Amino acid sequence: MLFDTHVHLNADQFEDDVNDVIERAQQAGVKEMVVVGFDEKTINKAMALVEQYDFLYAAVGWHPVDAVDMTDEHLAWIEELSAHPKVVAIGEMGLDYHWDKSPAEVQKEVFRKQIRLAKKLNMPIIIHNREADQDVVDVLKEEDAGEVGGIMHCFAGDMAIAKQCLDMNFHISFGGPVTFKNARLPEEVAAQIPMERLLIETDSPFLAPHPNRGKRNEPAYVTLVAEKLAELKGVSYEELIEETRINAKRLFNIN
Ligand SMILES: [Zn+2]
Repeated sequence: MLFDTHVHLNADQFEDDVNDVIERAQQAGVKEMVVVGFDEKTINKAMALVEQYDFLYAAVGWHPVDAVDMTDEHLAWIEELSAHPKVVAIGEMGLDYHWDKSPAEVQKEVFRKQIRLAKKLNMPIIIHNREADQDVVDVLKEEDAGEVGGIMHCFAGDMAIAKQCLDMNFHISFGGPVTFKNARLPEEVAAQIPMERLLIETDSPFLAPHPNRGKRNEPAYVTLVAEKLAELKGVSYEELIEETRINAKRLFNIN
């Protein structure tokens, strides 16, 4: 069985058929999934989904693109929700320099507030990083985020960045991009991540793996990511899915 550590079944793209999507995931061998909420609407939907399905878990946080919208009330609400037994992580949070809705300084402040909250709650964090490699690592270091650790989600950095994250107690999670035809860098990095720090994800509905690239992604396709990582690590598919599932359950404190 597989553990998809990052899904947005709470996205509008699944509005009409989320139950079928979950059914297909189960048929593909996917057991647990973490539904990630990153604003008011997606957090509410994530909480509704985890109430409905016992194998779904939630992460609650605030996305860096929308950092300008996060209020202290939102942060207090995230803290409140963290007490729910199905909430297993804080995030996603981080830095995103691709979009310019929120200035970098605001993003950093919102990122820091969430790291501090996670440390207070002693919960792992899920990190979103787009075009902000060194700044993300610097904030994590300055805030001593290694105390709680967590996941570098859909990792796209080089080995120097990966090394710094591993040194801080973080897990490295790979998604669809590692399967892309031109994926030399993620392939090289993935091959070097120690097995006990490796995780798999889809980031559904985004970043569908080859040969479904460009289509709506769904958790059933995490099998394609697992196949690719097994090949890169030189282990069997069964070993890869078992080890990454054990890693996820340990990190999220499930069972
Ligand atoms: Zn995400």
